[in-house]
Amino acid sequence: MAVERTLSIIKPDATKRNLTGKINAKFEDAGLRIVAQKRIQLTPAQAGVFYEVHKERPFYGELCEFMASGPVVVQVLEGEGAVAKNREVMGATNPKDAAPGTIRAEFAESVGENSVHGSDAAETAAVEIAYFFSGLELVG
Ligand code: UDP
Ligand code: MG
Repeated sequence: MAVERTLSIIKPDATKRNLTGKINAKFEDAGLRIVAQKRIQLTPAQAGVFYEVHKERPFYGELCEFMASGPVVVQVLEGEGAVAKNREVMGATNPKDAAPGTIRAEFAESVGENSVHGSDAAETAAVEIAYFFSGLELVG
């Protein structure tokens, strides 16, 4: 399998509860390398552009407000099959469906406030990484 990069976000519900280190340990324990990382505060409009694909869904407004409700940690994870591996470590979108030991099973508060974002495909990952990072900020 090829070495890939994927975009991860530690969401405001998790940064508020001081879980950045515990979540990063899950990534590193799974063999994912954090090759870029920064803590930022999004505006609802910036969150809206990031989640544009969901703009027709009923939860879009709430999602954008939530993503702007506190700091997020945006990061690039690198490794063999990083996109799928990260999704595995994250667990299902709804924590009720997330497998034991996954980030969302352990830390998520609800289907909306579910602690982490991860890109869903290599093509999406490239677009999402470029939204937050310049090439100079990626140090593999
Ligand atoms: N979301 C929500 N309600 C839903 C489905 C999703 O609030 O019924 C939020 C949740 O924060 C989720 C994000 O919208 O992580 C993006 O949804 P997606 O289906 O892409 O899930 P993910 O890829 O994050 O697992
Ligand atoms: Mg998604």
